[in-house]
Amino acid sequence: MAEPDKIILRGTILLGEELEPFEGYLVLRDGVVAEIGSERIDPDFEGIISPALINAHVHLGDSILKDPPYLPLNDLVGPGGVKHRALSSATRREQVEGMRRSLSYMARSGTSAFADFREGGEDGVEMLLEAMEEGKRGDGLDLIGRIFGRPDPGSIQVHQNCWGVGISSTKDHPRSWVEDVVEVARSEGKKIALHAGEAGRDDIEDALSLEPDLLVHLTKAEPRDLAKVAEARVPVVVCPRSNLVTGVGLPDIARMLDIGIVVGLGTDNVMLNGPNLFSEMEFLSKALLHNDRQVFMMCTLNGAQILGADDAAGAIRVGKKCRIMVINRRSDNMAGGKDSLASLVRRANPSDVLAVL
Ligand SMILES: [Zn+2]
Repeated sequence: MAEPDKIILRGTILLGEELEPFEGYLVLRDGVVAEIGSERIDPDFEGIISPALINAHVHLGDSILKDPPYLPLNDLVGPGGVKHRALSSATRREQVEGMRRSLSYMARSGTSAFADFREGGEDGVEMLLEAMEEGKRGDGLDLIGRIFGRPDPGSIQVHQNCWGVGISSTKDHPRSWVEDVVEVARSEGKKIALHAGEAGRDDIEDALSLEPDLLVHLTKAEPRDLAKVAEARVPVVVCPRSNLVTGVGLPDIARMLDIGIVVGLGTDNVMLNGPNLFSEMEFLSKALLHNDRQVFMMCTLNGAQILGADDAAGAIRVGKKCRIMVINRRSDNMAGGKDSLASLVRRANPSDVLAVL
């Protein structure tokens, strides 16, 4: 009798924490890797079998805007900037629909989990939850979402469904308010994440003094700043394509990795870049790291660690629940590839994704 919850995959499996290629088959039962072997079995899907991608920093809320002009960071996303004007002239329905479509695009682009910096207080979070629910009902989307919310004006508490608080630079708020928000969030077991060192390094020390669980950007961090981040064991999410659009330069990711910082990868504001991690990986590997394994780890294993999703995503191991992506190695784009990991990082795009399971 056929088992409806059993899926058989075959091809090059990027296995374990080391992402070592293994030729064979893999059986997924109820989302758990039940078996891996090398015999010939008829598969449901065949291709490059890898952990699905994790977008560790995105702002889905500005999905209504796709083509802003090139402007300095503050004119784009600061108070009264392009983003806020677009949001204030959009209806609530348009905003929810924009987010739903971005979620759908992420899922089709191999992404299984994301962390969103959600603005707009309680209702901002409600809008994202609605978009996730609509995506689930309509398209069967099954994304792991970690929402970092912001309190409503005059409040210091975020929506109960938030995983944490996501604070823009400490420079944007009175210190006493930031401390109150952090204290309340921590008392509720929520995580603390901040943008830091994006346009200048003068908010990094301040951000670290709050003992955060996560920092985003550190584009302008100097070696002495990164040493403190490493010492405090704070993970960092970098968004290099976003940094290019806003003209702030590029972070020293090689040094971050060298000194042992856990680095994840994010696509940042949807209005600046499509939430497509293949583009982010290709750029990062070719322009900055020349190291496909490091890049792929950033948006799989490191992302899972940062999102606290190790038990449901990340490395492929027998006995472990895991979100898996299957990439078509016979597409016009991928055919003839010899090094699966390099092809995946430098060449694959959303149209090569056969399935995310
Ligand atoms: Zn951001």
